[in-house]
Amino acid sequence: MSSVRVAVVGAGVVGFSTAVCIAEALPSCSVTLLAETFSPDTTSDGAAGILFAAKFPDIPLERQRRWFKDTFDHLLAISQSENSPEAGVMLSSGCQIFREVPEDTKPYWSDLVMGFRHMTDRELKRFPDHKFGQIFTTLKCECSSYLPWLEKRFSKAGGQVQQKKVNNLQELSSSYDIIVNCSGLGSKALVGDAEVHPVRGQVLQVDAPWLQHFIRDGDGKTYIFPGIHSVTVGGTRQEGDWRLGVDEGDTKSILERCTRLEPSLSKANVLATWVGLRPSRRNPRVEREGMQLQGKRVPVVHNYGHGGWGVSLAWGTALDAMRLVSQCLYEIPLQAKL
Ligand SMILES: Cc1cc2nc3c(=O)[nH]c(=O)nc-3n(C[C@H](O)[C@H](O)[C@H](O)COP(=O)(O)OP(=O)(O)OC[C@H]3O[C@@H](n4cnc5c(N)ncnc54)[C@H](O)[C@@H]3O)c2cc1C
Repeated sequence: MSSVRVAVVGAGVVGFSTAVCIAEALPSCSVTLLAETFSPDTTSDGAAGILFAAKFPDIPLERQRRWFKDTFDHLLAISQSENSPEAGVMLSSGCQIFREVPEDTKPYWSDLVMGFRHMTDRELKRFPDHKFGQIFTTLKCECSSYLPWLEKRFSKAGGQVQQKKVNNLQELSSSYDIIVNCSGLGSKALVGDAEVHPVRGQVLQVDAPWLQHFIRDGDGKTYIFPGIHSVTVGGTRQEGDWRLGVDEGDTKSILERCTRLEPSLSKANVLATWVGLRPSRRNPRVEREGMQLQGKRVPVVHNYGHGGWGVSLAWGTALDAMRLVSQCLYEIPLQAKL
């Protein structure tokens, strides 16, 4: 029996998570992942990969909680297995500090991470410019390791990969029965979504093995995230900025801001500098539509627009996308399934 041919476009953390979920859960599908760039050349590769999230305005909070919880549980299991070093997933503890007490002192994910509590006055003394803080243990998923690991898992489940820029979805409609769009910022051109836009982020990798705990300013612009091989220090959040080159002014400002939070960073060597464009949108788009492509109706499942939270939500939204694909299986013409 020939299977239903599914194309997943995108090889970032969202594309690979989605492709793995479909290939493992839906054995009647043969899944091909197509992408213009693969690891180490995706946005996902440079993300610090710390799991927490801001609230999206128009998505029911229960759905956002599920996305976060499913991702957290999936990555927690990896962090506690023999796969942890190869997959680049580890537990990470630290604090998020605020100059003013935020409106939401207990974010929706506070009971999904571990040991969440507010900081004491004594703990806050270390940060004289900040009035309020949260301490918790979450996960860090380093996509430069996690993506190759997911790719192996995908091929073990029978998935195929192909390097290809997809110029429009029509190109895929004769070879595939269902298309899954995980092209991130690429969706602007690929499906003409004017809402998706870049939020530029610059980070540095520094050598500071003595740092074990993360520190994040609640404004999201300054952070120190110790990782497996180096410490990520950042950053910037520049809306609508498409520049991929390193900005020396940003580098200086990142080092100044981070050193103010953690003075010992003045002794750290800079190993690398990296820029990525967050695929941002008012809300991520995780839904399906039927598109008329070259005279036939093709189910298209979208999963993109995760902004600065793609690593934190990838597995949860991938499970949703897989369920949407599974619904499509009942609707595509019978001959595709035979
Ligand atoms: C500095 C920085 C720090 C971050 N830190 C965190 C963090 O700590 N925690 C967190 O959760 N998130 C973080 N993020 C956000 C996270 O990186 C993104 O949300 C996530 O990488 C998005 O994944 P994606 O798979 O949607 O997109 P991408 O990783 O950009 O992948 C898109 C894929 O689609 C392919 N593609 C696009 N168009 C086409 C086309 N036409 N044809 C074929 N292929 C196409 C690309 O080649 C690529 O393979 C950070 C981002 C930045 C920039």
